[in-house]
Amino acid sequence: MTLPEPRADLGLREGYHSAQVDVEVRLNTNESPLPPPPGWVEQLRTAVATIEYNRYPDREARQLRVALAELHNVAPEQVFCANGSNEVLQSLCLAYGGAGRKALTFEPTYALHSHIAHLTGTAVVAAGRLDDFSLDRDLVLDVLRAEKPAVTFLCSPNNPTGNSEDRSLVKAVVDAAPGLVVVDEAYGQFADWSARDLLDDEVPLVVTRTFSKTWSMAAVRLGYALAPAPVVAMLERVALPYHLDAIKQAAGLLAVARVAEMEERVGLVVRERQRLIQGLGRLPVMVWPSQANFVLFRPEVGPGSEVWQGLLERSVLVRDTSSWPGLQGCLRVTVGTEAENDRFLAALGEVLREVGK
Ligand SMILES: *Cc1c(COP(=O)(O)O)cnc(C)c1O
Repeated sequence: MTLPEPRADLGLREGYHSAQVDVEVRLNTNESPLPPPPGWVEQLRTAVATIEYNRYPDREARQLRVALAELHNVAPEQVFCANGSNEVLQSLCLAYGGAGRKALTFEPTYALHSHIAHLTGTAVVAAGRLDDFSLDRDLVLDVLRAEKPAVTFLCSPNNPTGNSEDRSLVKAVVDAAPGLVVVDEAYGQFADWSARDLLDDEVPLVVTRTFSKTWSMAAVRLGYALAPAPVVAMLERVALPYHLDAIKQAAGLLAVARVAEMEERVGLVVRERQRLIQGLGRLPVMVWPSQANFVLFRPEVGPGSEVWQGLLERSVLVRDTSSWPGLQGCLRVTVGTEAENDRFLAALGEVLREVGK
């Protein structure tokens, strides 16, 4: 007996991975360095005890969507929730991409945009960025005209480079794009503007958000889109029935009631980010500015992968982006707690001295 061949168009594509190694300082996946507020955990315990487990959950996740709609000043019909914002992206590709259609990305950017597009049979057109990782307006408009993508992915702040996309440029892309424009705002809380303000039922714009980063809830797997109501209706059509379980809905609802605590964390991370950037500035590395909870840097001595390994040997895990196109030699570090950032900076100083010898 032999096993059947999988879909030919999957090719030899690897799954998406980030190392899950047991280390003391984990700064590789842009999670919040802090656990959720103890009060939230307590309330969730109570909520979980009252769920009717023999019944399917609310298919529309109504309460959660109402709460998110209030938070962002949109209608509940303009909110789509899913298992992480990755499932939102997948639903978008299922509904608006697919065979014979194209998705456009601007590299380097979040690898899952092209990965999910491929998995859904959507052809991927990858355009570039300027040296400072911003978008070149003329190039963007030319590519839109030439390729006519059904879905255009922007990421603001952009992972892994840390810069926000320019507001007027996002507006120009939305005006010019022949299809849907998706602005991935997984790090939106850290940035000084949001594409949320450009949303309208008449505008082909979708903004995606996640509970995985600022909300300290990566384990819950909850994300959402703010989008025109007809787009949300399409996303609901392609989502599996009852895809959002009752525990997740309760967890999200309780979290949205704690925006103030979340914003406090954002403030703390932003302060630590500035300190981290200053610390990096004293070492032989090139550092890029960041509007997110991570910082991209390039060691001036030694190959990036060797520096990454040296950090790992000191039980500090960062993201090795050194072999990614457009990011030669670069590493990405997530902003951690004060103690974690100090550990990282000390370890990096040691590694650079050693590698530089
Ligand atoms: C981390 C991240 C996400 C989050 O995905 P979830 O599925 O919500 O955990 C989405 N987009 C970008 C750019 C990210 O960096």
